[in-house]
Amino acid sequence: MIPVTPALREYFRMETLGAYLGNSELLEVDGVLVDVANVLQRRYRCDTSCCVYRLDREVHGRSLAGDCCHRPEVRLAAGEEEGLLAHLEGIMRHMAPGSREMLIGRLARCQEDPGLAFSSPVIVNGRLTGHRRLRLTPAGDCLFRFEGYENGRPFVRCAIHAYLLESGLPLWGIKPMTCWVWPLAVVPLYDGRLLLTLHTRDTLMFTGEGHYHASRPCLLHPPEDAPFVYQTAEQELRQLLGNDFYDHLLKAIGEPAPHGLPA
Ligand code: SF4
Ligand code: SF4
Repeated sequence: MIPVTPALREYFRMETLGAYLGNSELLEVDGVLVDVANVLQRRYRCDTSCCVYRLDREVHGRSLAGDCCHRPEVRLAAGEEEGLLAHLEGIMRHMAPGSREMLIGRLARCQEDPGLAFSSPVIVNGRLTGHRRLRLTPAGDCLFRFEGYENGRPFVRCAIHAYLLESGLPLWGIKPMTCWVWPLAVVPLYDGRLLLTLHTRDTLMFTGEGHYHASRPCLLHPPEDAPFVYQTAEQELRQLLGNDFYDHLLKAIGEPAPHGLPA
């Protein structure tokens, strides 16, 4: 491995990520630099009443907008395509009628490779990467997004998530990791440590997040009664970084480990 020369260290200090690290309060836990302002002190809850609004006119069957399931790039991690295929019948019950019809038609045409009915290859620099991403509807929404009204209030939901909740199944391996991790961002650093932060307008320069997603109202103006990010995302952090990391994080900030979980 190349040694970090003084010039290289200075270069890292100046560029966008280095400047962010130098100007942020960070708490190191097990080699993870936890962004205090974004993970420990910022509140967050997914509540579509804060992001969703009605469009003046319907576009390709879409009458609501503002949520993060519009124009997402959801890449599928190992095993997720198979997980989705194994549960597709149940998931389809929750899909918007137009998206369900589109999926049924594609399933009939993609019998040799049914995953292509809901995903397409990711191409970078004109080359296939070996990854696939979820397809979008003609309106630019994720195929699994559905919208509706409950007690007169508009909502947007995920058909995969709705099916998993209904079935009592965990998200892991079926709901794409890209979605359950969001809005958390994990950035590998040159010295082998990780930065744990959030997709915001301040971090998009080095996380690669788009401006639309980094500007969702749940990130810009979180509800005052929402839990802190590390509390809302407890299960996701345990799944992603391990139970030990999460328990050590709680210890580092002076909170007791939850009852029944190893300390
Ligand atoms: S933008 Fe925020 S509040 Fe809206 S659906 Fe996404 S996570 Fe939930
Ligand atoms: S899979 Fe679900 S959460 Fe992810 S973008 Fe699609 S609808 Fe949204």
